[in-house]
Amino acid sequence: YEPEQFSAAYQPLYNLQTGAFSGVEVLSRWNSPELGTVPPDEFIALAEARGLINLHSARMFALIERDVLSWCSWEKGFKPILAVNVSVQQIDDEAFKALILTLNNKVKAANWQLELEVIESQLMTLSDTVIEQFTQWRELGIRIAIDDFGTGYSCLAYLHSLPIDKLKIDRQFLQTQTQSRKEDQIIYAILSMANALGIEVLAEGIETPEQFERLRQLGCQTGQGYGLARPQPWHQRLMAPLKDL
Ligand code: C2E
Ligand code: CA
Ligand code: CA
Repeated sequence: YEPEQFSAAYQPLYNLQTGAFSGVEVLSRWNSPELGTVPPDEFIALAEARGLINLHSARMFALIERDVLSWCSWEKGFKPILAVNVSVQQIDDEAFKALILTLNNKVKAANWQLELEVIESQLMTLSDTVIEQFTQWRELGIRIAIDDFGTGYSCLAYLHSLPIDKLKIDRQFLQTQTQSRKEDQIIYAILSMANALGIEVLAEGIETPEQFERLRQLGCQTGQGYGLARPQPWHQRLMAPLKDL
C-alpha cells in the first residue's frame, strides 16, 4: 500500500430548498502508476480483501485533516457535514474505531460534524453489534447515514429500530424520464416515512435541472450530484451556496 498514490475528491452536499452548502462527501481516488486511475468501486473491494482498508482509511483521514479541517470559521451555529464512506467490516474493528475517535475529535474541534455512510445492502446482515456500535458513535455526536438506500432488498421494517440520522436515496430513483412518475411516488413514500421517523433524506445523482426541481417539489431536504457539483480536489469554493442550475 502506497499512501501517496491515493487522493481524496470532495463532492458538496446542498440544502435543496435554500441552495445552502451543507457539507461534503469524501470519495477516494487511486492514481496507480501501473494501472492508471482506478475507480473506488474496484480498489475498495481489493483493499478490503487484502486487509488494507484501515490503512486506506488512515490515509483518507490524514487528507481530510489537511484539506478540510482547516476551515472552521462558520456563521454561528452552522456545522457542515463531513461524510466518510465506511466498509461494513470496519464497524466492529478495534483499530478502525480508534481511527474514528481521533478523527471525530478533530472534526468537532473544527466545527464540522462527522457522518459515517454505510451501504444499505451490506447492512442486511445487521447484527446487534452493529446497532450497539452505531448507538455508541451517535452518543459521541457522530451521525450515521444509510447509503444507496433503495437498492438490494430494502427492508423498511429495520428503519425504526436502527439508530440512524439519514437515508441517501440511490441515484437509480432519479434515472427515469418525465413520462413515468412511479419513482416520484416511491421517493415521496420514502420522504414521508423518513419524516415520520425523524430521519433526514438526501437524494444522490442529481444531474439535470428537471431532477433538481422534482426533488424540491417533493420536499426532499438535501442532495448531491454532477448537476450541482462534481467530486473534485479540495477548494474553498466548494463551500459556496448553489447557484441556480
Ligand atoms: P457512493 O458512496 O454512492 O458515492 C457516490 C458515487 O456517485 C461517487 O462515485 C460519485 O462520483 C458518483 N456520483 C456523484 N454524483 C453523481 C451523479 O450526478 N451522477 C452519477 N452518475 N454519479 C454521481 P465514486 O467516487 O466512483 O465512488 C464509488 C463508490 O465507492 C462510492 O459510492 C462509495 O461506496 C465507494 N467509496 C469511495 N470512497 C470510499 C472510501 O474511502 N471507503 C469506502 N469504504 N468506500 C468508498
Ligand atoms: Ca457514499
Ligand atoms: Ca451512494
